[in-house]
Amino acid sequence: MTLTAAAPLPPLAARARRVGASPVREILALTARPEVISFAGGLPAPELFDAEGIREAYARVLGERPQRVLQYSTTEGDPALRGAVAARLTARGLATGADDLLVTGGSQQGLALIATALLEPGDVVLVENPTYLAALQCFGFAGARVVPVPTDADGVIPEALEELVLRERPKLLYLIPTFQNPTGRTLPLARRRAVAEVAGRHGLWIAEDDPYGELRFEGVCQPWIAGQDEAADRTVLLGSFSKIMAPGLRLGWLRAPAGLLRACVVAKQAADLHTSTVDQAAAARYLADRDLDEHLARVRTAYRTRRDALLAGLDSALPAGTTWNRPEGGMFVWVRLPDGHDATALLPAAIAHDVAYVPGTPFFAAAPDPAALRLSFTTHTPEEITEGLSRLARVF
Ligand code: PMP
Repeated sequence: MTLTAAAPLPPLAARARRVGASPVREILALTARPEVISFAGGLPAPELFDAEGIREAYARVLGERPQRVLQYSTTEGDPALRGAVAARLTARGLATGADDLLVTGGSQQGLALIATALLEPGDVVLVENPTYLAALQCFGFAGARVVPVPTDADGVIPEALEELVLRERPKLLYLIPTFQNPTGRTLPLARRRAVAEVAGRHGLWIAEDDPYGELRFEGVCQPWIAGQDEAADRTVLLGSFSKIMAPGLRLGWLRAPAGLLRACVVAKQAADLHTSTVDQAAAARYLADRDLDEHLARVRTAYRTRRDALLAGLDSALPAGTTWNRPEGGMFVWVRLPDGHDATALLPAAIAHDVAYVPGTPFFAAAPDPAALRLSFTTHTPEEITEGLSRLARVF
């Protein structure tokens, strides 16, 4: 038998060649050494997880009805869990029934489902500039053309949005209106109304991504865009248990108008049939047996203290002329070094000093600001934050 050279394999799909891995994940790998004080990761504080409550919820559902919770289940999700989420949304002013919701494997899957259900290659998606990196990946996989909307310290500028809508005819606007990732910014009510009005008048979908809204330490809750009359029939609201319970559960939900919800259910069927039955059952049990709001109050108190420790030390740690914001909640502070500084170029020196942050550049869909960086304040104690800042001062 003669050996012939193996024929070359067909190439990866263009979308797989086009979309790269998240540079933030690569930075996180560099900062995994225990001696590093990291302001880089967007992680909730693990010592605040209610591990005991979650363990007991799993024990109960596995003890009481193991055959049920270890079996396949419906794509839409656990009725008790959807009911509990619907009740929480309704209590916060957004009338919601269990049937308006689809349980997802985190809000990240919600983004992927929306992209599958809505986007053709070449469709335009408008995003805040900067915005959440993995959303950019999702829209990239869908072959969408991502167009950034100009923002200021309050988020997207409605007049600029309307101009772009007229010019680009987008199908979808993706927003993180509360304690945005990466900037920590919150869109004020007047702008929420203006955005809803633009979407209503010009005909586009809105994806309102809200993983951080329940982490408010102070100030007044802003109503969801999904609750504004003009946009109620065209807004998908994405929620998550990651920041309020634990991200390892991989549980989130999507609230959408009926037609889009059905399309997302079919897209999810094709992707993974359904989210883990036992995880959903345990989360529903937890919500029934425990007081999530009491837990959240503890998390908010700890995060507020950590935010304050960070804000108190920034002035002496960063070069004169640096600016930053003061978010009323969430996990991030957005910093801008003086002109001429390059946060990406400075990162290796920071890591050499056992301190880390995420440069702002990868979060921009266009025209990155090299002087910007994101600081997360959630995973270290105030003392560690103070020490991390004195290391940063040595770097700068
Ligand atoms: N959206 C935003 C804005 C996020 O910051 C994150 C997590 N960092 C997600 C979605 C995804 O969260 P999850 O899938 O854990 O719910």
